[in-house]
Amino acid sequence: QKFTQFQLSEPIERALSKLGYTVPTEVQQKVLPAALANLDLLVKSQTGSGKTAAFAIPICEQVEWLENKPQALVLTPTRELAVQVAEEFTSIGRYKRIKAVPLYGKQPFHYQQTELKQKTHIAVGTPGRVLDHIEKGTLKLEKIRYIVIDEADEMLNMGFIEQVEAILSYMPKNRVTMLFSATLPEAVKELAGRHLIAPVDIEV
Ligand code: AMP
Repeated sequence: QKFTQFQLSEPIERALSKLGYTVPTEVQQKVLPAALANLDLLVKSQTGSGKTAAFAIPICEQVEWLENKPQALVLTPTRELAVQVAEEFTSIGRYKRIKAVPLYGKQPFHYQQTELKQKTHIAVGTPGRVLDHIEKGTLKLEKIRYIVIDEADEMLNMGFIEQVEAILSYMPKNRVTMLFSATLPEAVKELAGRHLIAPVDIEV
């Protein structure tokens, strides 16, 4: 199996070759067709499985470069993960000149505000700071078509579920939602039940 089977656009294929990604991992094999078809997804997978690229590839593929406001929002439990995920989007979207901005506490708010005033395709952040940007109007939501909740079980462990709920309540209804989690405790299933529509269940 190769990435060519998904008929990705040339800039994305070129970026994957440059990264040395030739064979899709199991989670990518399962997620890509569903995500490219714009279905909601509930994915049980571990870190190290290639899950970041599993959501970053279809989002980069479908992002429109000309649009200035963010088209995708990824929520992560930690700052480190936000930075890492934003870097993966930047790498995969390199030849499409996709801009991904990490948003997390500890970095000055005004710095991120300046970043968000420029063209931004993807915002990746921790729930507290993302909520802050939403409430101050510095993160525009009207063009968001993709939402990823990454490491949902960790969000739960760190007490972020209420903030995640609040963020989701602000989002446009016409969108795709993907939830990734290493484990599926009841609270994560309930979150999925409230915010995903007829999700495809994927387990790797
Ligand atoms: P993740 O589970 O997203 O943290 O990814 C784990 C590691 O696998 C990262 O270092 C990625 O760069 C790498 N990776 C992701 N997809 C592929 C692929 N298809 N081929 C080779 N390496 C990959």
